[in-house]
Amino acid sequence: MGEVLVLIDHTNGRIRKPALELLTLARRLGTPAAVVLDGGAATATLAAEAGAYGAATVYVADAPEFADYFIAPEVDALHQIVRAADPTAILIPSSADGKETAARLALRLDSGLITDAVDLDVDDSGPLAVQSVFAASYQVTSRVTHGTPVITVKPNTTIPEPAPTTCRTENVTVRFSPAATRTEIVSRTPRTASARPELTEADIIVSGGRGTGGAEGFTVVEQLADALQAAVGASRAAVDAGWYPHTHQVGQTGKQVSPRLYLAAGISGAIQHRAGMQTSKVIVAVNKDPEAPIFDLADYGVIGDLFTVLPGLTEHLVTPTD
Ligand code: FAD
Repeated sequence: MGEVLVLIDHTNGRIRKPALELLTLARRLGTPAAVVLDGGAATATLAAEAGAYGAATVYVADAPEFADYFIAPEVDALHQIVRAADPTAILIPSSADGKETAARLALRLDSGLITDAVDLDVDDSGPLAVQSVFAASYQVTSRVTHGTPVITVKPNTTIPEPAPTTCRTENVTVRFSPAATRTEIVSRTPRTASARPELTEADIIVSGGRGTGGAEGFTVVEQLADALQAAVGASRAAVDAGWYPHTHQVGQTGKQVSPRLYLAAGISGAIQHRAGMQTSKVIVAVNKDPEAPIFDLADYGVIGDLFTVLPGLTEHLVTPTD
């Protein structure tokens, strides 16, 4: 079986969950190999963690360019590793950065690109990627027909499963192209830390819409989110009204999420909102209008006032009665 390269997304010296999911999925397609860029002092820890999730080889590259310049240095590194390793496929997390890296890499390799896969498979002709489209009403299975497949995969596509293996580390010295240093990062401001999980990686999301009636209405959304250890999402109507920060917007022009559970409270289910959450595994809608389109998509629906339903659910979770 050929190597399947996985670009390792990491933070604070740990591999992020979506990359562990990719190492798990990569085992279906071939032998996982991890690419750790800019690991710094945490490189050995990251390599060991990748090995614990099945990576037989860990390609490691460190250089100031990764931190100082945007996206292009990563593409140079991946391009060089792909040319040397000739893998079966390249898997990249479906974050905004990941999709840009994947697109540039595919162009460089003259390869086909599939983005936002929600599942991966393989047949005699190679890797297959499943995408969920048109408000989750169709699943499309595609393959790349030219070059080395470059595939981005949405978070929460599978549960990360350890598969400890003996892994070797290969140091790579990247020869950066002039294009790598064309966009310099001039400053970094860390976001105010929140105890809640990152929206795009969360297992559970509780989202509020115009039905919350105002910024104070999000209190019941946040209380339920905290009881479920969930992230908080919002519709564009709610963020445009200034009731919740734009960084929490879910949808076509917001974040694309794919949690195990998505609870939409006071959200009508406009197509642009669905575009960002339709691949959630289980969708629960709370809406007082029985005709709301969100119920067409929901697995479970509660017709009722969110100011009654959400606090009731929170109460039950905090002090279970049975
Ligand atoms: P509404 O459609 O007004 O729905 C509010 C719902 O709350 C209603 O169904 C109502 O019955 C219910 N409700 C009211 N009170 C209560 C209560 N007390 N209890 C329970 N239910 C209650 N939208 C996004 O969300 N994300 C996007 O990324 C996005 N991108 C867009 C891009 C473009 C180009 C355009 C044109 C639009 C985009 N929109 C996006 C906007 C989208 O079309 C909708 O306008 C928006 O999603 C509506 O938000 P909402 O469901 O919160 O509000």
